[in-house]
Amino acid sequence: MSTFVVLLGPPGAGKGTQAEVLAKELDLPHISSGDLFRENLKNQTPLGKKAQEYMSRGELVPDDVTIGMIRERLKQPDSGRGAVLDGFPRTPAQADALAALLGEMGSEVQVVPYISVPAETLIERLSGRWTCRAQGHIYHEKYNPPKTPGKCDTDGSELYQRDDDKPETVKNRIAVYDQQTAPLIAYYRDHGKLVELDGTQPIEKVTEQLIAAVEQK
Ligand code: ADP
Ligand code: AMP
Repeated sequence: MSTFVVLLGPPGAGKGTQAEVLAKELDLPHISSGDLFRENLKNQTPLGKKAQEYMSRGELVPDDVTIGMIRERLKQPDSGRGAVLDGFPRTPAQADALAALLGEMGSEVQVVPYISVPAETLIERLSGRWTCRAQGHIYHEKYNPPKTPGKCDTDGSELYQRDDDKPETVKNRIAVYDQQTAPLIAYYRDHGKLVELDGTQPIEKVTEQLIAAVEQK
């Protein structure tokens, strides 16, 4: 039996931070659509070039492109036992496509932890976020600082600030989330999959409640 967990929440809610720990705990791959796009952008693949302008404006990459990328990722053998999905789905059409893809694999989404954080907190979270160049490990200069400033604790690579974490772009990303992604809260609640978590608590507290919620389902 496979386990698919979808982490839902606005940009800066802590999805990437929690997905990494949860994936380790469950021994499943962590699939982040944003990381996959950034990897393609770094390697200047056709997919990366297609996504670039949308990402820099803080808009969503079109559904067909995004769904195609996730379809390929789910075909990799390590996804057979399940995955922790972070940043996908982000629209109702993507959620329908995910249900169909998992259906073909004889599986389904088991649980959707929704990490809830008010908009006023998100700007501060994202303006202090530092991301690791090599593998996308996530830090915050105040809430989760690296041991050595500017260096990733895990792999020693350089930390950088994402271009789309500038306050102007973040405001647009939050508006896009409210319009296009927030409807998924009701979508997954109606399917009986949603578990809401208070994402304003310290990172470890959210992790504790997340693991408990997933194990309960
Ligand atoms: P998302 O993947 O949802 O966009 P991240 O996991 O990248 O969010 O977290 C955004 C920023 O907020 C990062 O700098 C991270 O270190 C920080 N952060 C994550 N969870 C918390 C928390 N519970 N309290 C304070 N800061 C947090
Ligand atoms: P993230 O790393 O999740 O903050 O995503 C960074 C950017 O990648 C987003 O602002 C979008 O431009 C793009 N992106 C990531 N996931 C998706 C998705 N599921 N659908 C459309 N665009 C996405």
